[in-house]
Amino acid sequence: MTRVLAMANQKGGVGKTTTAVNLAASLTATRRRVLLVDLDPQGNATMGSGIEKRSLERSVYHVLLGACPLVEARQTSAAGHYDVLPSNRELAGAEVELVDLPHRETRLKDALAPILEQYDYVLIDCPPALNLLTVNGLCAAQAVLIPMQCEYYALEGLSDLVQTVRKVREHLNSELEIEGLLRTMYDPRSILAQQVSAQLVQHFGDKVYRTVIPRNIRLAEAPSHGLPALQLDRQSKGAKAYLALAGEMLNRPVRETTIG
Ligand code: ADP
Ligand code: MG
Repeated sequence: MTRVLAMANQKGGVGKTTTAVNLAASLTATRRRVLLVDLDPQGNATMGSGIEKRSLERSVYHVLLGACPLVEARQTSAAGHYDVLPSNRELAGAEVELVDLPHRETRLKDALAPILEQYDYVLIDCPPALNLLTVNGLCAAQAVLIPMQCEYYALEGLSDLVQTVRKVREHLNSELEIEGLLRTMYDPRSILAQQVSAQLVQHFGDKVYRTVIPRNIRLAEAPSHGLPALQLDRQSKGAKAYLALAGEMLNRPVRETTIG
């Protein structure tokens, strides 16, 4: 069965895209068939996978508007060996254009349906907002992966996200659960990070991944080469951390959800 996961957090800069790209590369390295969907008009996951966003003939934008089937917009990342449904700034207009279309919340889900069984994992990189694009991501997904930095306001923002997940579950996608919370850019020497991390575990229990992603220069550099960290420097702490995350996901038993 295909597992569809949305990387979501309305805060920008918490590691959604870094997680989507590097998890896609890591799952591919463990022989899973992966599709990465870039749902952010910034197109960072597209570029980070080595695909030039400025020269796309077809993108996720056309797919959401029903202008072409997903297979016509899909590309393969030569760098990461996984498939990508790419995005660029054209997608910024989709929000407004989608509003008047039927099934506006489930257009990504409907577009994915015919090709779903070609993949073991579909990873959706959501934009930093709780908007209609993110709602499309949440409707298409079975579960949400929440990357977060362990800093002072992190927990506050989390309650809005959990609230949105709950609403989507009530009205649009009854199977949606929280897959896990991922601590990113973690500095173990920071007392604050330790405290926030402890609160997180207290509140969300084993929904918090045991794997922690450290702050690592290779993870920050890799996008400028259009490569996942695994392809840039296999021995880097960042690449190893995302391989460990993939391992933890694959070995995790399916558990009951408790959100909020
Ligand atoms: P988001 O998609 O949530 O906006 P990104 O994944 O784009 O966040 O990350 C924001 C910035 O932080 C990017 O410049 C990225 O390269 C960098 N970054 C992300 N994770 C790490 C990490 N573990 N170590 C170092 N830099 C990171
Ligand atoms: Mg991003």
